[in-house]
Amino acid sequence: MIDGKPVLIRGGLVYDGSPGAPRACDVLIRGDRIVKVAPGISEPAAHEVDARGCVVCPGFVDIHRHLDARPFTDWRGEAELRQGITTAVAGNCGFSLAPMVALTDQLRAHLEPILGLLPEAVPAGFPGYLRALDRAAKPLNLAAMVGTGSVRIAVKGFAAGRWTAEEMARAQAMIEEALDAGACGVSLGIMYVPECYAGREEFARLLRPLGERGGVCAVHIRGEGDSLVDSVKEAVDIARLTGCALHISHFKSCGVDNWRREIHRAIDVINAARSAGLDLTCDFYPYTGGSTALTTMLPPDYIAGDLVGALRRLGTERGVAAFRDSISRFYPDWDNFALTLGWERIIISSVRHAHNRRYLGMTVADAASRFGFPDAAALAAHLMHDEAGATAIINMSMCQDDVDTVAGLPYAMVVSDAIYAQTDTPHPRMFGAQPRILREYVRERGVLSMQQAIHKMTAMPARRMGLAGRGELKEGFFADVLVFDPEQFRDNAVFGDSAKPATGLQWAFVNGVPAVRDDALLAQGAGRLLRRRYNRQERT
Ligand SMILES: [Zn+2]
Repeated sequence: MIDGKPVLIRGGLVYDGSPGAPRACDVLIRGDRIVKVAPGISEPAAHEVDARGCVVCPGFVDIHRHLDARPFTDWRGEAELRQGITTAVAGNCGFSLAPMVALTDQLRAHLEPILGLLPEAVPAGFPGYLRALDRAAKPLNLAAMVGTGSVRIAVKGFAAGRWTAEEMARAQAMIEEALDAGACGVSLGIMYVPECYAGREEFARLLRPLGERGGVCAVHIRGEGDSLVDSVKEAVDIARLTGCALHISHFKSCGVDNWRREIHRAIDVINAARSAGLDLTCDFYPYTGGSTALTTMLPPDYIAGDLVGALRRLGTERGVAAFRDSISRFYPDWDNFALTLGWERIIISSVRHAHNRRYLGMTVADAASRFGFPDAAALAAHLMHDEAGATAIINMSMCQDDVDTVAGLPYAMVVSDAIYAQTDTPHPRMFGAQPRILREYVRERGVLSMQQAIHKMTAMPARRMGLAGRGELKEGFFADVLVFDPEQFRDNAVFGDSAKPATGLQWAFVNGVPAVRDDALLAQGAGRLLRRRYNRQERT
């Protein structure tokens, strides 16, 4: 039934994406649009979907997935479509595939643990990147933010130090060009090199074009452990100085000693800023473990603006000793997870080389003692050096109470934060974040109601990123629609057994085209590139 004729979804319980109560309704799709949502639709349709006993809702909008490079590879979208994601936003955490001057080894070491294998070449500018995305076959809809990390690298490489006026002007022009081409926001990765070398005033200047357009900046804040509260304050200051809306990405509290305390202090800061008029939201993923590159365990002063040099030093005895020394200290503005979490809570989740596969799924501490390294630092140093930084890790850094607290915030939306490092042991959020919300947070633990959960996965994120016509099941909106039995649709991926797609999705439509039926992929390439249009008065 991929012939473009009208489809009538009959007899389901319709959650339209708003936080309101569901209604028993039929849904009529014609072409790429929803043309009618009403009980007892009598118009004839070429195809009927029997949705009795099922939820009918908008496709999920995942505004935080690091899938920037996937459209340039062999990508069928199975992980995404089978968990009901019909729209995703790339370019998060300061990482975007454009602007970019050249894909150096240093840049690959920096990006590949997050974005996965990169193509041979990428378009230099953001407009060119969007045009390439537009041309590529896409199983689902994509939008993209421009990352200030990539902008900074394009202008001044990985160097530490302040922006010169000339560099700043070039960087602002790149951001302006990206926004005018249709970037749906600007992302910051203040935790990462080289962005960690900049302060709030520099970020505020950099984001001036975004403030002028009333766009949103999505921020991976400087620290999510001991420095969480200060880092939230810094993001609030940046947004205030800039005049842009603020979205805090993967909002969480890390570090055992901070659990059940610091998240509440950070929420107090957020609520005060919201009360004072700042347009501020956040997102979260429904797991107590995070995932990132092993190189995030390198203190910025160890890297000192030269990631490749640092990785080389880790191959020498002196370099390992210096690394061991640098991660045995606390830093006021950098989370040292070797101390606040411990290597026994950090799992090796993806490696580049076959000879390092023996470490997969083990904690750094366990793997070090099992394979005869003097300590965890020695193994971490060995892996970073041997793999040129490509290793990815899972940090078991959060507690469930804190995740539930964030889930309950009325301005918190659901994301996956899936990273695409080459591995068969990814973080389970790759395959299951949104269905996990439905299974665990709605059905099993009652942390959220079904309509709250669907709202947080559809209309809320679509509006936040200015994705017009998406995220709601209403007449005139694009026909990105899911049909599932609310007792059956579930995630299956867990830590340690993670490469398992979700199951129980009866239908997913992307732009009116059936893309999933009974957990099987159907049409390919029904997705579109979504460009955001700004006018100078717009406020998100
Ligand atoms: Zn991030």
